Amino acid sequence: MTIMPFFGAIAGVIKGIGSALLGVVSVGGGFLEEFFGRFFGLPGLFLDLIGIRPKKKLRLRFLILANQFGPLVPPANLQETFKLTKRIYDEQADIKVIQSDTSIAYGAPEGALEVTTPIMNNIGHFGEVGAYFHGLSGLGFFTRRLSVIIVNTIDGNQGRAYWAAGNFVIIEKRFFDDPKDTTTLVAHEIGHACGLILHRDKKENLMYRNHKRGEKLDRWQSSIVRGSKFVWYI
Ligand SMILES: [Zn+2]
Repeated sequence: MTIMPFFGAIAGVIKGIGSALLGVVSVGGGFLEEFFGRFFGLPGLFLDLIGIRPKKKLRLRFLILANQFGPLVPPANLQETFKLTKRIYDEQADIKVIQSDTSIAYGAPEGALEVTTPIMNNIGHFGEVGAYFHGLSGLGFFTRRLSVIIVNTIDGNQGRAYWAAGNFVIIEKRFFDDPKDTTTLVAHEIGHACGLILHRDKKENLMYRNHKRGEKLDRWQSSIVRGSKFVWYI
């Protein structure tokens, strides 16, 4: 006979409510920010489309999750892909991609290391895993950086982005197993996060669905990315 399970259950409920609230603030705030950003960005979009497009900046933060054996990949293994991502956005969108920092995140819940896509697609934003990712990538309006979180596996996907709903994208670790590895997947998921919601049918486009994709963005696509809440003049 003990009252501990009772307190345990209460703590569980409080934690659940906390996660749900964090999800509501993050997702709701993210969409509000996106909406106002796009609205006040309309004059900029017009100038952009007619070719007046000064260089803008996108700050990326790499977060490598760790399991009981340590970080899923060594930070150095991300460098070639970072260079490729930087070159693509420089050439295709006049955006200078800056690596703000690379950190290792210890103590990730199981569901963050092994992401089940159906969960992260919708209701998961309001649960433990969503709360973990939102907390890790940083809450708040006027977020000036996008986090690229390296996880172990994503069920049914290689990478995921959530457009305005999160300040992060997630990518499977297998693309960084070797220091020489390089993938367009990071640039592709950044595209989704920055407003390119739909895939393109042309293979040479960066937003082509599978890994045989090219690096190209058309004028409209690059203008959408430049108008994203993650891309700034300063
Ligand atoms: Zn995609």
